Amino acid sequence: MQSYDLIIREANLFGVGEGLDLAAAGGKIARIGKKLPETGKTEIQAKGKLVIPGFVESHTHLDKSFTAVDEDTPNLEEAYGIFTRYLDKIPAGGMVEDIKARSRRVLDWELAAGATAVKSHVLVCPQWGMDSFRAIQELKAEYKGRLDLYNIVQWTAETDGAFRAAAQAGEIDFIAGYPLFTPDPMGEIDRLFALAQAYNLPLDLHIDEHDRPDVSCFLRVLQRTREYHMEGRVACGHVTALNAVDDETARRAIEECAQLRVNIITLPSCNMFLMGRQDHQPIRRGITRVDEFRRAGVNVSVASDNIRDPYRPFGNGDLLEEALFAAQVLQYGTGEQLEWVMEMVTCNPAKNTLLTDHGLREGCAADLAVLDAPTAKEAIISQSARLFVLKEGKVVAKNGVLVS
Ligand SMILES: [Zn+2]
Repeated sequence: MQSYDLIIREANLFGVGEGLDLAAAGGKIARIGKKLPETGKTEIQAKGKLVIPGFVESHTHLDKSFTAVDEDTPNLEEAYGIFTRYLDKIPAGGMVEDIKARSRRVLDWELAAGATAVKSHVLVCPQWGMDSFRAIQELKAEYKGRLDLYNIVQWTAETDGAFRAAAQAGEIDFIAGYPLFTPDPMGEIDRLFALAQAYNLPLDLHIDEHDRPDVSCFLRVLQRTREYHMEGRVACGHVTALNAVDDETARRAIEECAQLRVNIITLPSCNMFLMGRQDHQPIRRGITRVDEFRRAGVNVSVASDNIRDPYRPFGNGDLLEEALFAAQVLQYGTGEQLEWVMEMVTCNPAKNTLLTDHGLREGCAADLAVLDAPTAKEAIISQSARLFVLKEGKVVAKNGVLVS
């Protein structure tokens, strides 16, 4: 009788069916079916438990995490100063190790909470140049086999040579962009698309993260996506300003976004904390038009964004926690709606990360989490325990604790 590396028995497979066995071999899902007769070298009894494809954290800033240790942030204007004062205290030559140590804390949380892939923005700044890129590259190797790490690297004129060398060497996964933080946002968007074309790389941009009625960056990104034929290979994070424009402008932009398969990443916990600060009652929620995007067929994901840094003092690197927060802000409470939310932290971010083997299908990577709840609704509401996290069919965390 054939034996598999792993069989999970009688599980509720998210989006597939209930009471099913899932077998894995060679790191992949080999078979799904009722009462498989074969045996597994590892067997997990999961009757009444939900099995999901691993969480995918598709927008975070590992390199900024835990940089607000000595100071509280009284307001947003002081955040960057607090960040740079933290960096000033790092001894010369110690930056890569410092970034790695802080990033590891978040990555270990993500992993224990059920994430099997993390996509992190990589800041390039005067204090550390490309050190964060180097740190994330080293962490990629360190976490290989437990969690897949993807970088989203910022281009700057000062680091042009190093950026191009890394892109040429195939070491850059996504190009980052923050057009509103540059003197010429439209020119910056154009530059980013030209760079993406030159190296055949996807884009993951911070777009219109404010609450003024102006979505000109988003519209420019849509236009350039069409011109550069980058359908499906562009992700826009935030787009909070879409809340401030009129419904007709928003409708047209959302329709075009759907046509061009531009991915949207919403960051509810960070947006709720940072947006609407100039509002008097009613204070806007600050997140983009998720429901309208979703209904138009746009791929929308939920992610953490900043974790315990000067921009947001909260965050546990736990996408089930982010899912609960998102559900409350989005006013999604039915079983079906909470399944959409679960998709927004699993399959949808896998799509914006361009993962082709993520999912509960034969042939996909056996990157899974077993949750102590029968349904997505129960798992999100009860913040269920993560009984097992599996990477390529191997148990990497159990009951929230990493397996060494
Ligand atoms: Zn961000």
